[in-house]
Amino acid sequence: MRSISVLGATGSVGESAFDLLMRAGGPERFRTIALTGGGNVARLAQMARALRAGIAVTAWPECLPALRAALAGSGIEAAAGADAVAEAAARPADWTLSAIVGAAGLPPGLEVLKRGGTLALANKETLVAAGPLVMARARETGARILPVDSEHSAIFQALQGEDLDSVEHVTITASGGAFRDWPLERLAQATVAEASRHPNWDMGQRITIDSASMFNKALEVIEAHEFFGLGINRLRVLVHPQSIIHAMVTHRDGGSIAHLGAPDMRHAIGYALNWPARAALPVPALDLAALGSLTFAEPDEARWPALRLAREAITAGGAAGAVLNAAKEQALDDFIAGRIRFTDMAPAVEHALEQAAREPGFARSPRDLGEVLHWDGFARRAAAQWQGAA
Ligand code: NAD
Ligand code: MG
Repeated sequence: MRSISVLGATGSVGESAFDLLMRAGGPERFRTIALTGGGNVARLAQMARALRAGIAVTAWPECLPALRAALAGSGIEAAAGADAVAEAAARPADWTLSAIVGAAGLPPGLEVLKRGGTLALANKETLVAAGPLVMARARETGARILPVDSEHSAIFQALQGEDLDSVEHVTITASGGAFRDWPLERLAQATVAEASRHPNWDMGQRITIDSASMFNKALEVIEAHEFFGLGINRLRVLVHPQSIIHAMVTHRDGGSIAHLGAPDMRHAIGYALNWPARAALPVPALDLAALGSLTFAEPDEARWPALRLAREAITAGGAAGAVLNAAKEQALDDFIAGRIRFTDMAPAVEHALEQAAREPGFARSPRDLGEVLHWDGFARRAAAQWQGAA
């Protein structure tokens, strides 16, 4: 029987994965080694019971008593804390999905790679913060990374059987998020509630706000750069409000191969779960006649400065990915908490990148988790300071 683990099982991607696993036969079909989550221990315990998991881990130590109580009599082990999440990730499993949000996904992701496992990666922050380190770890151990971010799954699918050298460029689409059509001068007044509504995708709050600011697309451009090894001159972003084409690979012979599908994460998760085979999935096929038309536009960098920051971070290399990612997380926390405005997030991140670029060692890619965490801490402090200056 195939063994699996899901890190971040209780989130939006985690719930979609759970749905797929249960539909595919649940505990009759998969041996679940570990499930991890955050504060929603009732749901975590419910999932762990349904999949007969070996261990359930909450990232929050204060939630351990509640998790233990919810698992009473099940025989399922319970643990808590960041180290316990990493320890659960280190347990051998044939397939491990990382659906944790934020840089917190990096240490458990590295554990999967260290044991040479297959890492289905929704947690794009793993590659943004530590791409060279992560890819090197996978090469050393023979671990496999399967992209689950929909655009990267789309590129990966479009590249099957193709030679990367023949690729002229890759286009990642962006819906444009909540504020695509807002007048620019209104953006500074955007509220957290307004930024938390996505036109097409039903996702966690943080990635939804990141879609409105295009920081999500900025992270995805860096993710594609790290994972596929494409230089910035071979990566493009295209606004596509319908979110039907997820990505497109354009070859030097002028042919382009696009990946289309309904905006439903169960496709990308299911593809990674069944790869290299394709299994039936509960995702409806497209009805293009019903859709009628698909539209496209060049992204406006005055509206979405995050795209410029991603390009600059790729050009800078070294610790820029770790800094951009952590500064963005800090700025997002500050926006959600009402400390800064929506339009302050990009300047705060840019400030952190400028401060970091003056530090010794910035030009070198972090060589281990400790170095990533050093830049992560530096970037959060620098981004938080910016609001003081504002
Ligand atoms: P979410 O907020 O809905 O869920 C996050 C999960 O991680 C939850 O289980 C939560 O308990 C856990 N978690 C949160 N903080 C943690 C911490 N510090 N340590 C350990 N676990 C923690 O997020 P999501 O929308 O499911 O996104 C998960 C990841 O997948 C993100 O990296 C996101 O960018 C990426 N992604 C999401 C979607 C989507 O449709 N939601 C699409 C593509 C990529
Ligand atoms: Mg995506």
